Amino acid sequence: MAIVVYPGSFDPITNGHIDLIHRAAKLFNKVIVAIALNAKKKTLFSLSQRIELAKQSLADLDQVQVMGFDKLLVDFVQEQQAQVILRGLRAVSDFDYEFQLAGMNRSLASEIETIFLTPAEQYTYISSSLVKEIASMQGSVSAFVNKAVEDALLQQIR
Ligand code: ADP
Repeated sequence: MAIVVYPGSFDPITNGHIDLIHRAAKLFNKVIVAIALNAKKKTLFSLSQRIELAKQSLADLDQVQVMGFDKLLVDFVQEQQAQVILRGLRAVSDFDYEFQLAGMNRSLASEIETIFLTPAEQYTYISSSLVKEIASMQGSVSAFVNKAVEDALLQQIR
Protein backbone atom coordinates (compact mmCIF):
# COMPACT_ATOMS: atom_id res chain seq x y z
CA MET A 1 0.00 0.00 0.00
CA ALA A 2 1.40 3.30 -1.05
CA ILE A 3 0.10 6.65 0.14
CA VAL A 4 -2.39 7.43 2.92
CA VAL A 5 -3.89 10.83 3.74
CA TYR A 6 -4.71 11.56 7.39
CA PRO A 7 -7.02 14.59 7.37
CA GLY A 8 -8.18 16.67 10.32
CA SER A 9 -8.17 20.01 12.07
CA PHE A 10 -5.11 19.21 14.23
CA ASP A 11 -5.89 22.27 16.39
CA PRO A 12 -3.39 21.41 17.81
CA ILE A 13 -1.79 18.01 17.05
CA THR A 14 -1.87 15.76 20.15
CA ASN A 15 -0.05 12.60 21.26
CA GLY A 16 -3.14 10.67 20.11
CA HIS A 17 -2.77 11.94 16.54
CA ILE A 18 0.98 11.25 16.70
CA ASP A 19 0.41 7.68 17.92
CA LEU A 20 -1.85 7.04 14.92
CA ILE A 21 0.66 8.55 12.49
CA HIS A 22 3.44 6.29 13.85
CA ARG A 23 1.16 3.29 13.30
CA ALA A 24 0.27 4.42 9.77
CA ALA A 25 3.95 4.96 8.93
CA LYS A 26 4.53 1.23 9.53
CA LEU A 27 1.79 0.31 7.06
CA PHE A 28 2.23 2.83 4.25
CA ASN A 29 5.17 4.12 2.23
CA LYS A 30 4.03 7.69 2.70
CA VAL A 31 1.69 9.39 5.20
CA ILE A 32 0.33 12.83 4.31
CA VAL A 33 -1.00 14.68 7.36
CA ALA A 34 -3.57 16.94 5.72
CA ILE A 35 -4.55 19.91 7.87
CA ALA A 36 -7.88 21.44 6.93
CA LEU A 37 -8.20 25.20 6.73
CA ASN A 38 -11.79 24.58 7.89
CA ALA A 39 -13.21 28.08 7.59
CA LYS A 40 -16.45 27.14 9.34
CA LYS A 41 -14.77 25.72 12.44
CA LYS A 42 -13.15 28.39 14.56
CA THR A 43 -9.64 27.23 15.36
CA LEU A 44 -7.34 28.43 18.12
CA PHE A 45 -4.30 28.20 15.85
CA SER A 46 -3.99 29.51 12.30
CA LEU A 47 -3.42 27.01 9.50
CA SER A 48 0.26 27.91 9.27
CA GLN A 49 0.68 27.49 13.05
CA ARG A 50 -1.06 24.09 12.94
CA ILE A 51 1.19 22.99 10.09
CA GLU A 52 4.32 24.19 11.88
CA LEU A 53 3.36 22.42 15.16
CA ALA A 54 2.62 19.18 13.31
CA LYS A 55 5.95 19.39 11.48
CA GLN A 56 7.80 19.88 14.75
CA SER A 57 5.94 16.99 16.39
CA LEU A 58 6.68 14.62 13.48
CA ALA A 59 10.23 15.61 12.61
CA ASP A 60 11.53 12.12 13.42
CA LEU A 61 9.44 10.41 10.75
CA ASP A 62 10.94 10.48 7.24
CA GLN A 63 7.98 9.29 5.26
CA VAL A 64 5.51 11.73 6.82
CA GLN A 65 4.61 14.93 5.01
CA VAL A 66 2.48 17.73 6.54
CA MET A 67 0.32 19.81 4.21
CA GLY A 68 -2.58 22.25 4.49
CA PHE A 69 -5.63 21.92 2.27
CA ASP A 70 -8.72 23.95 1.50
CA LYS A 71 -10.85 21.87 -0.82
CA LEU A 72 -12.96 18.75 -0.95
CA LEU A 73 -11.00 15.99 0.80
CA VAL A 74 -11.46 13.43 -2.01
CA ASP A 75 -10.13 15.96 -4.54
CA PHE A 76 -7.08 16.54 -2.37
CA VAL A 77 -6.55 12.78 -1.99
CA GLN A 78 -6.72 12.24 -5.75
CA GLU A 79 -4.39 15.16 -6.39
CA GLN A 80 -1.83 13.56 -4.07
CA GLN A 81 -2.25 10.23 -5.90
CA ALA A 82 -3.22 8.61 -2.63
CA GLN A 83 -5.62 5.70 -2.38
CA VAL A 84 -6.55 5.69 1.28
CA ILE A 85 -7.96 8.07 3.90
CA LEU A 86 -7.01 7.41 7.53
CA ARG A 87 -9.23 8.42 10.44
CA GLY A 88 -8.98 7.62 14.14
CA LEU A 89 -11.48 5.94 16.42
CA ARG A 90 -11.13 6.63 20.11
CA ALA A 91 -14.46 5.37 21.37
CA VAL A 92 -17.90 4.34 20.20
CA SER A 93 -18.86 8.01 20.33
CA ASP A 94 -16.57 8.72 17.34
CA PHE A 95 -18.23 6.02 15.27
CA ASP A 96 -21.45 7.72 14.04
CA TYR A 97 -19.73 10.75 12.61
CA GLU A 98 -16.81 8.77 11.15
CA PHE A 99 -19.15 6.24 9.55
CA GLN A 100 -21.15 9.02 7.92
CA LEU A 101 -18.00 10.76 6.70
CA ALA A 102 -16.58 7.54 5.23
CA GLY A 103 -19.88 6.84 3.45
CA MET A 104 -20.04 10.33 2.02
CA ASN A 105 -16.44 10.20 0.81
CA ARG A 106 -17.11 6.81 -0.80
CA SER A 107 -20.14 8.18 -2.63
CA LEU A 108 -17.99 11.06 -3.92
CA ALA A 109 -15.01 8.86 -4.92
CA SER A 110 -15.69 5.13 -4.79
CA GLU A 111 -12.07 4.12 -5.50
CA ILE A 112 -10.79 5.71 -2.31
CA GLU A 113 -10.96 3.59 0.84
CA THR A 114 -11.22 4.92 4.39
CA ILE A 115 -9.41 2.96 7.08
CA PHE A 116 -9.54 3.42 10.84
CA LEU A 117 -6.85 2.94 13.44
CA THR A 118 -7.19 3.06 17.19
CA PRO A 119 -4.55 4.65 19.42
CA ALA A 120 -2.80 3.01 22.37
CA GLU A 121 -5.11 2.94 25.37
CA GLN A 122 -3.49 5.88 27.16
CA TYR A 123 -4.35 8.17 24.26
CA THR A 124 -8.00 7.23 23.83
CA TYR A 125 -9.29 10.07 25.99
CA ILE A 126 -7.16 12.82 24.40
CA SER A 127 -8.81 15.36 22.12
CA SER A 128 -7.56 18.70 20.85
CA SER A 129 -10.59 20.42 22.37
CA LEU A 130 -10.01 19.00 25.88
CA VAL A 131 -6.33 19.89 25.68
CA LYS A 132 -7.26 23.50 24.81
CA GLU A 133 -9.76 23.62 27.64
CA ILE A 134 -7.22 22.35 30.18
CA ALA A 135 -4.55 24.77 28.94
CA SER A 136 -7.00 27.69 29.11
CA MET A 137 -7.46 26.98 32.81
CA GLN A 138 -3.71 26.74 33.43
CA GLY A 139 -3.72 22.95 33.73
CA SER A 140 -0.68 20.96 32.64
CA VAL A 141 -0.97 19.41 29.18
CA SER A 142 2.55 17.98 29.03
CA ALA A 143 1.24 14.39 29.06
CA PHE A 144 -1.00 15.02 26.03
CA VAL A 145 1.04 17.06 23.55
CA ASN A 146 4.70 17.54 22.75
CA LYS A 147 6.80 20.39 24.13
CA ALA A 148 6.48 22.68 21.09
CA VAL A 149 2.68 22.39 21.24
CA GLU A 150 2.64 22.94 25.00
CA ASP A 151 4.70 26.13 24.63
CA ALA A 152 2.48 27.34 21.78
CA LEU A 153 -0.65 26.71 23.85
CA LEU A 154 0.76 28.67 26.80
CA GLN A 155 1.64 31.55 24.53
CA GLN A 156 -1.64 31.54 22.60
CA ILE A 157 -3.82 31.39 25.67
CA ARG A 158 -1.97 34.03 27.64
P1 ADP B 1 -11.59 16.70 12.82
O1 ADP B 1 -12.01 18.13 13.03
O2 ADP B 1 -11.51 16.32 11.38
O3 ADP B 1 -12.33 15.69 13.65
P2 ADP B 1 -9.29 16.22 14.56
O4 ADP B 1 -7.94 16.83 14.46
O5 ADP B 1 -10.06 16.47 15.80
O6 ADP B 1 -10.05 16.72 13.26
O7 ADP B 1 -9.20 14.65 14.37
C1 ADP B 1 -8.70 14.07 13.20
C2 ADP B 1 -8.86 12.57 13.29
O8 ADP B 1 -8.04 12.06 14.32
C3 ADP B 1 -10.28 12.10 13.61
O9 ADP B 1 -10.54 10.91 12.90
C4 ADP B 1 -10.24 11.84 15.09
O10 ADP B 1 -11.17 10.83 15.47
C5 ADP B 1 -8.81 11.33 15.23
N1 ADP B 1 -8.29 11.56 16.58
C6 ADP B 1 -8.33 12.68 17.32
N2 ADP B 1 -7.78 12.50 18.53
C7 ADP B 1 -7.37 11.21 18.56
C8 ADP B 1 -6.74 10.37 19.55
N3 ADP B 1 -6.46 10.82 20.77
N4 ADP B 1 -6.49 9.10 19.21
C9 ADP B 1 -6.82 8.63 17.99
N5 ADP B 1 -7.42 9.33 17.03
C10 ADP B 1 -7.69 10.61 17.31
